[in-house]
Amino acid sequence: MTQLQVIQREIVSCRLCPRLVRWREKVAREKVKRFADQKYWGKPILGFGDPNARLLLVGLAPAAHGGNRTGRMFTGDESGNWLYRALFRAGFANQATSTHRTDGLRLTDCYVTATCRCAPPKNKPLPKEVANCRPFLLREIELLRNVRVIVGLGRIGFETALNGYKEAGKIEFARRPAFAHCATNSLGPFTFIASYHPSQQNTFTGKLTEPMFDRVFASARRILAKG
Ligand code: SF4
Repeated sequence: MTQLQVIQREIVSCRLCPRLVRWREKVAREKVKRFADQKYWGKPILGFGDPNARLLLVGLAPAAHGGNRTGRMFTGDESGNWLYRALFRAGFANQATSTHRTDGLRLTDCYVTATCRCAPPKNKPLPKEVANCRPFLLREIELLRNVRVIVGLGRIGFETALNGYKEAGKIEFARRPAFAHCATNSLGPFTFIASYHPSQQNTFTGKLTEPMFDRVFASARRILAKG
């Protein structure tokens, strides 16, 4: 078993945040009408992708009826459709759709993780819950040794990425990089790119368009191509 698989075993049985454990299990029991015939995952979500990835994506948390239902990051909801379509166009994914854990989706040179591994009520984890989940990210950072470009999805994903790499002793900064869509920040051997989160709040309102999202991954590609 690889070290990443060891972490994944710990994550999937984690019950450290009582509020989130109650919520993820309640949602999984009660379901919504359109998914009433499906068995929900109802547990923490694991990091997903290529263990040799040079591109790391850091999101917020699974959605109640998306990842919390399907058991995979960004799978089974509109945010996931946006994300994997963009990754497919940029050559990091073998297909543009992500519907369930066994749909054949594979990521190449890309790994997806999250700030918080359990679905939070109203998509808002508490600071204590983010802190509880941080050690899992720190361990992923240690094990994903080839990562060079980190995309923070949404302000919280971006902050989590910066805080995680700083706490892991991988980067230092006197002035904290500001969040601005597609802004790149070189810190040590890493480049951090901020992106609006592909949540419906952003995609339905046009705050994030597909060309804007594509620019983020094109930028990541360019940076990785320089080696
Ligand atoms: S959010 Fe993270 S720390 Fe909290 S219960 Fe879920 S996996 Fe555990």
